[in-house]
Amino acid sequence: MQEAKYYKSDNKKTVTCKLCNHYCVISNNGVGVCKNRVNKNGKLYSLNFGKPIAQNIDPIEKKPFFHFLPGSSTYSIGALGCNFLCANCQNYDISQAEELEKKNEILNYVTPMRILEEALGNGCKSISYTYSEPTIFAEYALEIMKLAHKHKLKNVWVSNGYMSKELLNDIIPYLDAINIDLKSFDEKFYKKICNSKLKPVLDNIRILKEEQVHLELTTLIIPDYSDSISVISEIADFIATELDEDTPWHLSKFSPDISWKMKNLEATSEDIIYEAYEVAKDAGVRYVYVGNIPGDQKENTYCSKCGELAIRRFGYQIERLDVKGHCFNCDRSLDIVE
Ligand code: SF4
Repeated sequence: MQEAKYYKSDNKKTVTCKLCNHYCVISNNGVGVCKNRVNKNGKLYSLNFGKPIAQNIDPIEKKPFFHFLPGSSTYSIGALGCNFLCANCQNYDISQAEELEKKNEILNYVTPMRILEEALGNGCKSISYTYSEPTIFAEYALEIMKLAHKHKLKNVWVSNGYMSKELLNDIIPYLDAINIDLKSFDEKFYKKICNSKLKPVLDNIRILKEEQVHLELTTLIIPDYSDSISVISEIADFIATELDEDTPWHLSKFSPDISWKMKNLEATSEDIIYEAYEVAKDAGVRYVYVGNIPGDQKENTYCSKCGELAIRRFGYQIERLDVKGHCFNCDRSLDIVE
């Protein structure tokens, strides 16, 4: 256990955690919503500091990032716990694990330097903080992020975007790219399905865009919950008007078999995904992608000016037809970070 960085003691017994927008008030020996921060006599401790539950080399496309270091490998780490309780979670064995104190105790401590060495030794161009919400292992992530920049490796987060302003300010100088799971544009969805709020996520997305962190968004389209075309249209307008038409948006198909508490639903019909794709395109979003439909042509990158195929995707394999991030036909930029 390591003392947490983002909290304040309210009195001898109670602390307020300031790591994410839940701002949990935690009584003595209690834990926050994420079950990962424990108050011991007025001091807040992180249970998962230095305790990755998963370490893998992944294609960056798997996160997904389609416009950031395409075709590169990323060293991915994740820790136990999450600050959301999404019923649709597809990584719930990690994110919603119980008895975190006991489970973290038996995991090996891995130094930030060891993570860096593994990333460099395996030819990765970046380190991804992923699998579960990186906010809940942020102190550990930040130490690795600082080392990564010293050694010219990029840092990418795959996040629900619910971090506090205090944490966001601290990570932005070291954060090169982030994929935020924008689950819906409906506050009721966030409250009912995720036990959280939409507004702080939108506020953080705006800040990240202003700060010029490379941003991609993902929306999982769940039948009856987040498949409303009018809500999808609202997200598309938000991207095109408040962010930037060049922000890549991934529209993913839901599969009940791998979900935490939605196993009784049907898989999303591909027709709905295609309809959402067209709505996004019509709103002006330039780079829209379908997800979890292997081999679909809508996973490819097309030039937003002349429509030529620029990057072909087969699962996580890619074939580049562009010329240094520009369309080979009309030379328009494809808005790719190399
Ligand atoms: S990280 Fe968020 S959910 Fe966890 S204790 Fe802190 S405020 Fe609560």
